[in-house]
Amino acid sequence: MKMAKAKYTFLDLAEINAPYMTEIEAAVSRVITSGRYIGGGECERLERGLQSMTGAEYAVGVSNGLDALRLILRAWVDRGDLKKGDEVIVAANTYIASVLAILDAGLRPVLAPVDMATLNLDTSRIEESITSRTRGIMPVHLYGRVCWDARLKAIVERYGLLVIEDNAQAIGSRSDTPGLYGTSVSGGLGHAGAFSFYPTKNLGALGDAGAVVTHDGDLAARVRALSNYGSDRRYHNIYVGANCRLDPMQAAVLNVKMPYVERENGRRRVIAGIYDRIISNKAIAKPMLTGEDMVWHQYVVRCAERDRLQEYLRDAGVATDIHYAVPPHRQPCMARVDFRAVGDALEQAEAIGGSVLSLPISSCTAEAEAEEIAAIINGFV
Ligand SMILES: *Cc1c(COP(=O)(O)O)cnc(C)c1O
Repeated sequence: MKMAKAKYTFLDLAEINAPYMTEIEAAVSRVITSGRYIGGGECERLERGLQSMTGAEYAVGVSNGLDALRLILRAWVDRGDLKKGDEVIVAANTYIASVLAILDAGLRPVLAPVDMATLNLDTSRIEESITSRTRGIMPVHLYGRVCWDARLKAIVERYGLLVIEDNAQAIGSRSDTPGLYGTSVSGGLGHAGAFSFYPTKNLGALGDAGAVVTHDGDLAARVRALSNYGSDRRYHNIYVGANCRLDPMQAAVLNVKMPYVERENGRRRVIAGIYDRIISNKAIAKPMLTGEDMVWHQYVVRCAERDRLQEYLRDAGVATDIHYAVPPHRQPCMARVDFRAVGDALEQAEAIGGSVLSLPISSCTAEAEAEEIAAIINGFV
Protein backbone atom coordinates (compact mmCIF):
# COMPACT_ATOMS: atom_id res chain seq x y z
CA MET A 1 0.00 0.00 0.00
CA LYS A 2 1.26 3.46 -0.84
CA MET A 3 1.76 5.66 2.22
CA ALA A 4 -0.57 8.64 2.27
CA LYS A 5 1.30 11.93 2.11
CA ALA A 6 1.50 13.47 5.58
CA LYS A 7 -1.01 16.26 6.13
CA TYR A 8 1.66 18.11 8.12
CA THR A 9 4.98 17.83 6.27
CA PHE A 10 8.21 17.93 8.24
CA LEU A 11 10.18 20.07 5.82
CA ASP A 12 9.32 20.88 2.20
CA LEU A 13 12.45 22.42 0.67
CA ALA A 14 10.79 23.30 -2.65
CA GLU A 15 8.12 25.21 -0.75
CA ILE A 16 10.75 26.98 1.35
CA ASN A 17 12.58 28.19 -1.77
CA ALA A 18 9.47 29.00 -3.84
CA PRO A 19 9.11 32.61 -2.59
CA TYR A 20 12.66 33.34 -3.82
CA MET A 21 12.38 31.54 -7.17
CA THR A 22 12.35 34.63 -9.42
CA GLU A 23 15.25 36.28 -7.60
CA ILE A 24 17.23 33.01 -7.51
CA GLU A 25 16.75 32.44 -11.24
CA ALA A 26 17.96 35.96 -11.98
CA ALA A 27 20.97 35.55 -9.68
CA VAL A 28 21.96 32.20 -11.21
CA SER A 29 21.55 33.68 -14.71
CA ARG A 30 23.93 36.47 -13.76
CA VAL A 31 26.55 33.90 -12.76
CA ILE A 32 26.07 32.01 -16.02
CA THR A 33 26.40 35.10 -18.20
CA SER A 34 29.39 36.36 -16.17
CA GLY A 35 31.49 33.46 -17.42
CA ARG A 36 33.14 33.22 -14.01
CA TYR A 37 32.29 29.90 -12.37
CA ILE A 38 34.89 29.67 -9.60
CA GLY A 39 35.14 32.41 -6.97
CA GLY A 40 34.17 35.92 -7.97
CA GLY A 41 31.74 38.58 -6.85
CA GLU A 42 28.94 36.39 -5.50
CA CYS A 43 31.37 34.55 -3.20
CA GLU A 44 32.82 37.84 -2.01
CA ARG A 45 29.37 39.28 -1.39
CA LEU A 46 28.37 36.29 0.74
CA GLU A 47 31.56 36.68 2.77
CA ARG A 48 30.84 40.39 3.35
CA GLY A 49 27.30 39.51 4.43
CA LEU A 50 28.60 37.03 7.00
CA GLN A 51 31.12 39.55 8.31
CA SER A 52 28.45 42.15 8.90
CA MET A 53 26.02 39.61 10.38
CA THR A 54 28.51 38.21 12.90
CA GLY A 55 30.77 41.16 13.54
CA ALA A 56 33.77 38.98 12.71
CA GLU A 57 36.37 40.70 10.59
CA TYR A 58 36.99 37.84 8.17
CA ALA A 59 34.84 35.32 6.31
CA VAL A 60 35.83 32.61 3.84
CA GLY A 61 33.27 30.75 1.77
CA VAL A 62 33.94 27.02 1.52
CA SER A 63 32.35 23.87 0.13
CA ASN A 64 30.25 22.76 3.14
CA GLY A 65 29.99 22.85 6.92
CA LEU A 66 32.18 19.84 7.60
CA ASP A 67 34.96 21.31 5.46
CA ALA A 68 34.57 24.62 7.30
CA LEU A 69 35.24 22.81 10.61
CA ARG A 70 38.06 20.70 9.13
CA LEU A 71 39.85 23.66 7.57
CA ILE A 72 39.85 25.70 10.78
CA LEU A 73 41.37 22.81 12.75
CA ARG A 74 43.83 21.95 9.97
CA ALA A 75 44.97 25.59 9.87
CA TRP A 76 45.57 25.62 13.62
CA VAL A 77 47.56 22.39 13.37
CA ASP A 78 49.61 23.76 10.44
CA ARG A 79 50.32 26.95 12.37
CA GLY A 80 51.47 24.97 15.40
CA ASP A 81 48.64 26.13 17.67
CA LEU A 82 47.51 22.52 17.97
CA LYS A 83 49.54 19.31 17.82
CA LYS A 84 48.45 15.85 16.74
CA GLY A 85 46.78 14.12 19.69
CA ASP A 86 45.71 17.35 21.40
CA GLU A 87 42.25 17.14 22.90
CA VAL A 88 39.20 19.11 21.77
CA ILE A 89 36.09 19.11 23.97
CA VAL A 90 32.70 18.62 22.29
CA ALA A 91 29.25 17.66 23.62
CA ALA A 92 28.65 13.90 23.38
CA ASN A 93 25.24 14.34 21.71
CA THR A 94 26.42 16.42 18.75
CA TYR A 95 25.93 15.56 15.09
CA ILE A 96 28.83 13.36 14.00
CA ALA A 97 30.27 16.01 11.64
CA SER A 98 31.67 17.87 14.68
CA VAL A 99 33.56 14.76 15.78
CA LEU A 100 34.71 13.84 12.26
CA ALA A 101 36.32 17.26 11.84
CA ILE A 102 38.33 16.83 15.06
CA LEU A 103 39.48 13.37 14.00
CA ASP A 104 40.34 14.54 10.48
CA ALA A 105 42.83 17.05 11.89
CA GLY A 106 44.57 14.30 13.90
CA LEU A 107 43.11 15.61 17.16
CA ARG A 108 41.35 13.68 19.91
CA PRO A 109 37.64 14.31 20.51
CA VAL A 110 36.65 14.45 24.17
CA LEU A 111 32.94 13.64 24.43
CA ALA A 112 31.74 15.84 27.25
CA PRO A 113 28.65 15.91 29.52
CA VAL A 114 25.45 17.51 28.28
CA ASP A 115 23.08 19.90 30.05
CA MET A 116 19.85 17.90 29.85
CA ALA A 117 17.79 21.13 29.95
CA THR A 118 19.43 22.77 26.93
CA LEU A 119 20.84 19.65 25.20
CA ASN A 120 24.05 21.64 24.72
CA LEU A 121 27.43 21.20 26.42
CA ASP A 122 27.02 21.40 30.21
CA THR A 123 29.09 24.51 30.92
CA SER A 124 29.03 23.80 34.67
CA ARG A 125 30.95 20.54 34.07
CA ILE A 126 33.55 21.51 31.46
CA GLU A 127 36.39 21.26 33.96
CA GLU A 128 35.71 17.51 34.35
CA SER A 129 36.84 17.18 30.73
CA ILE A 130 40.09 19.13 31.00
CA THR A 131 43.47 17.36 31.08
CA SER A 132 47.02 18.52 30.34
CA ARG A 133 46.30 17.72 26.65
CA THR A 134 43.19 19.88 26.31
CA ARG A 135 43.79 22.67 23.81
CA GLY A 136 40.45 23.34 22.19
CA ILE A 137 36.71 23.39 22.70
CA MET A 138 33.96 23.17 20.08
CA PRO A 139 30.67 24.65 21.29
CA VAL A 140 27.92 23.27 19.02
CA HIS A 141 24.85 25.51 18.90
CA LEU A 142 22.58 22.50 18.59
CA TYR A 143 19.03 22.93 17.30
CA GLY A 144 19.70 26.69 17.00
CA ARG A 145 20.40 27.25 20.71
CA VAL A 146 23.57 29.21 21.33
CA CYS A 147 26.11 27.43 23.54
CA TRP A 148 28.01 30.28 25.14
CA ASP A 149 27.89 31.74 28.64
CA ALA A 150 30.08 33.37 31.28
CA ARG A 151 31.22 29.99 32.67
CA LEU A 152 32.33 28.73 29.26
CA LYS A 153 34.11 32.00 28.52
CA ALA A 154 35.89 31.98 31.90
CA ILE A 155 37.17 28.44 31.38
CA VAL A 156 38.35 29.27 27.86
CA GLU A 157 40.31 32.20 29.26
CA ARG A 158 41.64 30.33 32.30
CA TYR A 159 42.94 27.38 30.27
CA GLY A 160 43.83 29.29 27.09
CA LEU A 161 41.63 27.09 24.90
CA LEU A 162 41.01 27.67 21.21
CA VAL A 163 37.29 28.02 20.50
CA ILE A 164 35.81 26.69 17.26
CA GLU A 165 32.05 27.15 17.06
CA ASP A 166 29.98 24.63 15.15
CA ASN A 167 27.37 27.14 14.02
CA ALA A 168 25.82 24.89 11.36
CA GLN A 169 22.40 25.01 13.03
CA ALA A 170 22.30 28.49 14.51
CA ILE A 171 22.89 31.25 11.95
CA GLY A 172 21.72 34.57 13.42
CA SER A 173 21.44 33.42 17.04
CA ARG A 174 22.79 35.65 19.78
CA SER A 175 24.37 35.19 23.17
CA ASP A 176 23.67 37.34 26.26
CA THR A 177 27.34 36.93 27.15
CA PRO A 178 29.64 38.69 24.69
CA GLY A 179 32.14 36.53 22.84
CA LEU A 180 35.93 36.67 23.09
CA TYR A 181 36.01 39.70 20.79
CA GLY A 182 33.04 41.53 22.28
CA THR A 183 30.50 40.53 19.60
CA SER A 184 27.36 38.53 20.42
CA VAL A 185 26.19 36.77 17.24
CA SER A 186 26.92 33.03 16.93
CA GLY A 187 29.85 32.12 14.72
CA GLY A 188 31.74 35.20 15.88
CA LEU A 189 31.82 34.34 19.60
CA GLY A 190 35.01 32.30 19.63
CA HIS A 191 38.23 32.35 17.61
CA ALA A 192 36.57 30.85 14.55
CA GLY A 193 33.13 29.63 13.55
CA ALA A 194 31.88 27.18 10.94
CA PHE A 195 28.65 27.66 8.98
CA SER A 196 26.75 25.12 6.90
CA PHE A 197 24.35 26.09 4.14
CA TYR A 198 23.15 22.53 3.59
CA PRO A 199 19.64 22.83 2.08
CA THR A 200 17.78 22.04 5.32
CA LYS A 201 19.65 24.59 7.44
CA ASN A 202 18.08 27.95 8.41
CA LEU A 203 19.94 29.53 5.50
CA GLY A 204 20.01 26.75 2.92
CA ALA A 205 21.63 26.61 -0.52
CA LEU A 206 20.42 24.44 -3.42
CA GLY A 207 23.25 22.03 -2.74
CA ASP A 208 26.31 22.02 -0.49
CA ALA A 209 27.96 25.19 0.78
CA GLY A 210 29.61 26.48 3.94
CA ALA A 211 31.77 29.22 5.40
CA VAL A 212 34.35 30.05 8.04
CA VAL A 213 34.24 33.32 9.97
CA THR A 214 37.01 34.48 12.26
CA HIS A 215 38.55 37.48 13.99
CA ASP A 216 42.03 36.19 13.07
CA GLY A 217 43.29 37.47 9.71
CA ASP A 218 46.16 35.00 9.47
CA LEU A 219 43.78 32.10 10.15
CA ALA A 220 41.40 33.38 7.45
CA ALA A 221 44.25 33.55 4.94
CA ARG A 222 45.33 30.03 5.81
CA VAL A 223 41.78 28.66 5.51
CA ARG A 224 41.39 30.37 2.14
CA ALA A 225 44.68 28.95 0.90
CA LEU A 226 43.98 25.46 2.30
CA SER A 227 40.59 25.46 0.55
CA ASN A 228 42.29 26.26 -2.77
CA TYR A 229 45.06 23.64 -3.14
CA GLY A 230 47.07 25.36 -0.42
CA SER A 231 47.94 28.18 -2.80
CA ASP A 232 48.22 31.80 -1.73
CA ARG A 233 48.55 32.90 -5.34
CA ARG A 234 48.25 31.19 -8.69
CA TYR A 235 50.44 28.08 -9.08
CA HIS A 236 52.20 28.74 -5.78
CA ASN A 237 51.37 26.12 -3.14
CA ILE A 238 52.47 26.98 0.37
CA TYR A 239 50.34 24.32 2.15
CA VAL A 240 49.31 20.75 1.36
CA GLY A 241 45.80 21.92 0.60
CA ALA A 242 42.60 20.56 -0.86
CA ASN A 243 39.81 21.79 -3.08
CA CYS A 244 37.04 22.94 -0.73
CA ARG A 245 35.94 26.10 -2.51
CA LEU A 246 32.52 27.72 -2.33
CA ASP A 247 30.53 27.34 -5.56
CA PRO A 248 29.51 30.80 -6.86
CA MET A 249 26.14 29.42 -8.03
CA GLN A 250 25.39 28.50 -4.42
CA ALA A 251 26.75 31.82 -3.22
CA ALA A 252 24.36 33.59 -5.61
CA VAL A 253 21.41 31.62 -4.19
CA LEU A 254 22.53 32.38 -0.63
CA ASN A 255 22.92 36.09 -1.36
CA VAL A 256 19.28 36.17 -2.45
CA LYS A 257 18.11 34.43 0.73
CA MET A 258 20.46 36.03 3.28
CA PRO A 259 18.45 39.26 3.75
CA TYR A 260 15.45 37.15 4.83
CA VAL A 261 17.22 35.03 7.47
CA GLU A 262 16.19 37.29 10.37
CA ARG A 263 12.57 37.24 9.23
CA GLU A 264 12.56 33.45 8.76
CA ASN A 265 14.18 32.93 12.16
CA GLY A 266 11.42 35.14 13.56
CA ARG A 267 8.80 32.89 11.91
CA ARG A 268 10.42 29.90 13.61
CA ARG A 269 10.22 31.68 16.98
CA VAL A 270 6.50 32.23 16.48
CA ILE A 271 5.97 28.52 15.75
CA ALA A 272 8.10 27.49 18.75
CA GLY A 273 6.06 29.87 20.91
CA ILE A 274 2.83 28.21 19.77
CA TYR A 275 4.16 24.73 20.53
CA ASP A 276 5.35 25.94 23.91
CA ARG A 277 2.03 27.58 24.76
CA ILE A 278 -0.26 24.74 23.66
CA ILE A 279 1.61 21.49 24.30
CA SER A 280 0.64 20.46 27.82
CA ASN A 281 0.96 16.67 27.66
CA LYS A 282 2.78 15.52 30.81
CA ALA A 283 4.45 12.69 28.87
CA ILE A 284 6.30 15.20 26.74
CA ALA A 285 9.20 17.43 27.77
CA LYS A 286 9.32 20.63 25.75
CA PRO A 287 12.54 22.48 24.94
CA MET A 288 13.35 25.39 27.18
CA LEU A 289 12.25 28.75 25.72
CA THR A 290 15.03 31.32 25.83
CA GLY A 291 13.49 34.24 24.00
CA GLU A 292 15.25 35.99 21.19
CA ASP A 293 18.57 34.20 21.28
CA MET A 294 17.36 30.89 19.83
CA VAL A 295 16.77 30.38 16.09
CA TRP A 296 14.94 27.04 16.34
CA HIS A 297 16.68 25.02 13.66
CA GLN A 298 14.72 22.18 15.24
CA TYR A 299 11.95 22.09 17.84
CA VAL A 300 12.92 18.98 19.77
CA VAL A 301 10.69 17.41 22.40
CA ARG A 302 11.64 14.45 24.55
CA CYS A 303 9.42 11.50 25.40
CA ALA A 304 10.21 8.22 27.17
CA GLU A 305 8.00 6.47 24.62
CA ARG A 306 9.40 8.33 21.64
CA ASP A 307 8.89 5.59 19.03
CA ARG A 308 5.25 5.16 20.02
CA LEU A 309 4.76 8.94 19.94
CA GLN A 310 6.29 9.14 16.47
CA GLU A 311 4.00 6.35 15.25
CA TYR A 312 0.96 8.02 16.82
CA LEU A 313 1.85 11.29 15.08
CA ARG A 314 2.47 9.53 11.76
CA ASP A 315 -0.98 7.94 11.98
CA ALA A 316 -2.43 11.39 12.68
CA GLY A 317 -0.71 12.79 9.56
CA VAL A 318 2.14 14.58 11.34
CA ALA A 319 5.59 13.92 9.86
CA THR A 320 8.46 14.11 12.38
CA ASP A 321 12.18 13.37 12.38
CA ILE A 322 14.84 12.33 14.90
CA HIS A 323 18.03 14.36 15.43
CA TYR A 324 19.83 12.09 16.15
CA ALA A 325 18.86 8.56 17.12
CA VAL A 326 22.42 7.17 17.22
CA PRO A 327 25.04 9.36 18.94
CA PRO A 328 28.55 9.64 17.46
CA HIS A 329 30.19 7.17 19.86
CA ARG A 330 27.74 4.43 18.78
CA GLN A 331 28.57 4.81 15.08
CA PRO A 332 30.60 1.87 13.73
CA CYS A 333 33.49 4.07 12.56
CA MET A 334 34.13 5.21 16.13
CA ALA A 335 35.25 1.73 17.16
CA ARG A 336 38.48 2.34 15.20
CA VAL A 337 39.40 5.82 16.42
CA ASP A 338 40.86 7.36 19.54
CA PHE A 339 38.41 9.38 21.58
CA ARG A 340 37.80 9.97 25.26
CA ALA A 341 34.48 10.12 27.11
CA VAL A 342 33.92 12.03 30.34
CA GLY A 343 31.71 10.98 33.27
CA ASP A 344 28.22 9.95 32.21
CA ALA A 345 28.41 11.76 28.85
CA LEU A 346 27.88 8.64 26.75
CA GLU A 347 24.90 7.49 28.81
CA GLN A 348 23.45 10.98 28.46
CA ALA A 349 23.93 10.96 24.69
CA GLU A 350 22.22 7.58 24.47
CA ALA A 351 19.30 8.75 26.62
CA ILE A 352 18.93 11.78 24.37
CA GLY A 353 19.14 9.68 21.18
CA GLY A 354 16.43 7.38 22.51
CA SER A 355 13.97 10.10 23.50
CA VAL A 356 14.22 13.09 21.14
CA LEU A 357 11.66 13.88 18.46
CA SER A 358 11.76 16.87 16.11
CA LEU A 359 8.41 18.49 15.27
CA PRO A 360 7.76 20.36 12.02
CA ILE A 361 9.25 23.85 12.18
CA SER A 362 10.34 26.02 9.26
CA SER A 363 9.64 29.36 7.63
CA CYS A 364 6.70 27.61 5.92
CA THR A 365 5.02 26.12 8.99
CA ALA A 366 1.71 27.95 9.40
CA GLU A 367 0.54 29.08 12.82
CA ALA A 368 -2.70 27.14 12.40
CA GLU A 369 -0.70 24.01 11.53
CA ALA A 370 1.40 24.37 14.67
CA GLU A 371 -1.75 24.80 16.77
CA GLU A 372 -3.26 21.65 15.26
CA ILE A 373 -0.06 19.63 15.70
CA ALA A 374 0.19 20.75 19.33
CA ALA A 375 -3.43 19.70 19.95
CA ILE A 376 -2.73 16.29 18.36
CA ILE A 377 0.28 15.88 20.66
CA ASN A 378 -1.89 16.63 23.67
CA GLY A 379 -4.08 13.71 22.62
CA PHE A 380 -1.22 11.20 22.95
CA VAL A 381 -1.79 8.77 25.83
C1 LIG B 1 24.84 20.13 9.12
C2 LIG B 1 25.83 20.07 10.22
C3 LIG B 1 27.22 20.01 9.98
C4 LIG B 1 27.81 19.75 8.64
O1 LIG B 1 27.42 20.59 7.62
P1 LIG B 1 27.48 20.08 6.09
O2 LIG B 1 27.30 21.33 5.32
O3 LIG B 1 26.37 19.10 5.93
O4 LIG B 1 28.82 19.47 5.87
C5 LIG B 1 28.07 20.07 11.06
N1 LIG B 1 27.62 20.17 12.30
C6 LIG B 1 26.31 20.23 12.59
C7 LIG B 1 25.87 20.35 14.01
C8 LIG B 1 25.37 20.16 11.56
O5 LIG B 1 24.07 20.20 11.85
